[in-house]
Amino acid sequence: MINRLPKVRGTYRENAELKTWFDVGGPAEVIFRPYDLADLQFFLKNCSKEIPVQIIGAGSNVIIADEGVKGVVIKLPSEFAKISTENNLLRAGAGTLCVNVALACKNSALSGLEFLSGIPGSIGGAIAMNAGCYGSDIAENLISATAIDHQGNLHKLFNSDFGFFYRGSEIAKNFIFVEGLFKSEKSTFEEVSERIFKLNQQREIAQPIRAKTGGSTFKNPPEKKAWQLIDESGCRGKIIGDAQISEKHCNFMINRGKARAQDLIDLGDEVRNLVKKKSGIELEWEIKIIR
Ligand SMILES: Cc1cc2nc3c(=O)[nH]c(=O)nc-3n(C[C@H](O)[C@H](O)[C@H](O)COP(=O)(O)OP(=O)(O)OC[C@H]3O[C@@H](n4cnc5c(N)ncnc54)[C@H](O)[C@@H]3O)c2cc1C
Repeated sequence: MINRLPKVRGTYRENAELKTWFDVGGPAEVIFRPYDLADLQFFLKNCSKEIPVQIIGAGSNVIIADEGVKGVVIKLPSEFAKISTENNLLRAGAGTLCVNVALACKNSALSGLEFLSGIPGSIGGAIAMNAGCYGSDIAENLISATAIDHQGNLHKLFNSDFGFFYRGSEIAKNFIFVEGLFKSEKSTFEEVSERIFKLNQQREIAQPIRAKTGGSTFKNPPEKKAWQLIDESGCRGKIIGDAQISEKHCNFMINRGKARAQDLIDLGDEVRNLVKKKSGIELEWEIKIIR
């Protein structure tokens, strides 16, 4: 496979393990870590369009299929994880972990992005998913993002170009985000620290954050919270193989140790069926299944 790929300055690894929060799934045929932005553009311009290419961030919202992923998986290295601030603006590379953005805000006494402290993904994944919690999300804080399409063309996208909705946007699925520019407000170190501390405390009490999980399994439908529907359908604690609906927060699935990706997928589908039977409501997967 590597012989069919463009000669890049970054690295290729064949049959490479994909680390995700669920800790399930097979290898990627190839993982590509671009050296820099120009290298990523060069790769996308010159890679045969017959080879499937996709990007994975920190792997905190995905189930990788047991048979692994065909083609090339792009992983952004530390070159894409730089943060800078200017006045009330914060610029972060798409490979930056959300928690590091929240910490940078704390150190620069900037408020508005505290919610990112408990989201275990990357900024690229957060933009793609319109990640959010406790009343805040990416949509209300993003000014613009830089993205590359699969032909290697760079695009500057403003917030209004996205058509953001709950946990997603209308933006083309083949855009790879490389950077985001965010607004924030001047505050103090103490105030921002306090907000981060309180948010993390709330999360620790309510969610199984130390388990092998993927966060919220299903989007909340307009009628009711997903966890309530799951609870009412009798699925709290439900097990298939080594996959389980968390007893602590029943919109979280967990890998109890040796779950296969298919156990998680079967469990999610079974929950969808039981919720539909009980309430008539169809839950939509928030977690992405990657093949
Ligand atoms: C314990 C736990 C708690 C969580 N809590 C929350 C929460 O409160 N709120 C919330 O919204 N989410 C939450 N999540 C889910 C997850 O952290 C977010 O969706 C996060 O934004 C995903 O980022 P990631 O880098 O891990 O993306 P991944 O899981 O790697 O990928 C998710 C999707 O984003 C795409 N993607 C990733 N990077 C890029 C990029 N650079 N350009 C284009 N597309 C990209 C992938 O192709 C994939 O489709 C939680 C997860 C866990 C495990």
